[in-house]
Amino acid sequence: MRSHLLNDTTAEQYRRSVTEGVERVAAKLVDTQRPFTGVTVDDLAPVIEQIDLDRPLHDTTAVLDELEDVYLRDAIYFHHPRYLAHLNCPVVIPAVLGEAILSAVNSSLDTWDQSAGGTLIERKLIDWTAARIGLGENADGVFTSGGSQSNLQALLLAREEAKTEDLGTLRIFASEVSHFSVKKSAKLLGLGQDAVVSIPVDHEKRMQTVALAHELERCAKDGLVPMAVVATAGTTDFGSIDPLPEVAELCAQYGTWMHVDAAYGCGLLTSLTRRALLDGIERADSVTVDYHKSFFQPVSSSALLVKDATTLRHATYHAEYLNPRRMVQERIPNQVDKSLQTTRRFDALKLWVTLRVMGADGIGQLFDEVCDLAQEGWKLLAADPRYDVVVEPRLSTLVFRYIPATVTDPAEIDRANLYARKALFASGEAIVAGTKVNGRHYLKFTLLNPETKASDIAAVLDLIAGHAEQYLGDSLDRAS
Ligand SMILES: *Cc1c(COP(=O)(O)O)cnc(C)c1O
Repeated sequence: MRSHLLNDTTAEQYRRSVTEGVERVAAKLVDTQRPFTGVTVDDLAPVIEQIDLDRPLHDTTAVLDELEDVYLRDAIYFHHPRYLAHLNCPVVIPAVLGEAILSAVNSSLDTWDQSAGGTLIERKLIDWTAARIGLGENADGVFTSGGSQSNLQALLLAREEAKTEDLGTLRIFASEVSHFSVKKSAKLLGLGQDAVVSIPVDHEKRMQTVALAHELERCAKDGLVPMAVVATAGTTDFGSIDPLPEVAELCAQYGTWMHVDAAYGCGLLTSLTRRALLDGIERADSVTVDYHKSFFQPVSSSALLVKDATTLRHATYHAEYLNPRRMVQERIPNQVDKSLQTTRRFDALKLWVTLRVMGADGIGQLFDEVCDLAQEGWKLLAADPRYDVVVEPRLSTLVFRYIPATVTDPAEIDRANLYARKALFASGEAIVAGTKVNGRHYLKFTLLNPETKASDIAAVLDLIAGHAEQYLGDSLDRAS
């Protein structure tokens, strides 16, 4: 069994084994014709069920053959130009290279004595990101597992900075289309049921700052504590960006922590044409960025940035066995002092290799391309009488629904759209997402693949219309 340990004597086996895996994936990339096979849970569950984990195969090739059946064949492939569903990007090769290196070396970024150079690389990437945001000289931050964790940590810092024992009085203000991790975080942080105040959005799905001002005023009048405003820079559904300068003004006026959730919109930090959409983000107290969404990085790769490095102390605990207090005096950099995690992946390496190979402009160019594509898609949808499209995209999402010429019952239109999404998924030809707008079912394209063409969007719209028409035709038959 020792031959499986990665070390000096097994270097050749390591090379062979990983290369064999890389070859399988490479072959898959070439072969894959559709984003999905359309396999069902009922098809796949028994295949995985019948594998006896207590009877190993002892042979890498056999295991890879088996993996074809249990995973590779039916995986959802985000690199396919007709994967249009969630905020998953195709990944760039330098980042995958970084991933292979970081898991083999297996640094853990909690303490210097488990990561050495890795700590400094992560710190440099944090400084780089903070500088792109414009957070100033005292900024800091840490890599996290994802936007949800970044939001949680941001709100933890905001809660501590609010300096009140009475958690029931704390209020967080976020738009009605903010990410659900804001509410989850409030719960985890022990805040009351009513802690998150939902602020209505305008017709472009941006937070209405008049309503925010009103709620902040009411909060003060009621003797409650405005703990944080969460402005979203790139809402998950619409890619809409809350008016950051106005939110910043109100936060300054009411002494409230300003958090910007740029999990999606962070790609704009490298954009060559659209960086101005983030104007005002530099005034934030904290910012969430998900490199695994708009920087074309593999999951996971995310960070929380803060304007004032000292606020990260709210996540600091010392343990004799790991990061004793004296290490701070000795100026030994232990990233665990800033993190909610202890053992932590060296995800920063992926971004490092990406920036060293492609440069930030390379990332920005790819993100700009998908935003341009969304504009084209919007024009297609706006000109297509079969569809209703919600808002002109700022980033790269399109929310729309099929509207039949002959049917007016909204519930029936809902069912036709739900059916079309499911039927498309089952066909594996393309994958789209869904959401609700004003209580009605809509479909969504999240465009993060620069290889997707306007012709793909047009083709998928035809497929959706075909499924929806089939549903409506069948339901007419059922009625008669
Ligand atoms: C995706 C997303 C999150 C959550 O990020 P994860 O990496 O999935 O945890 C938070 N906020 C917004 C706006 C997002 O789009």
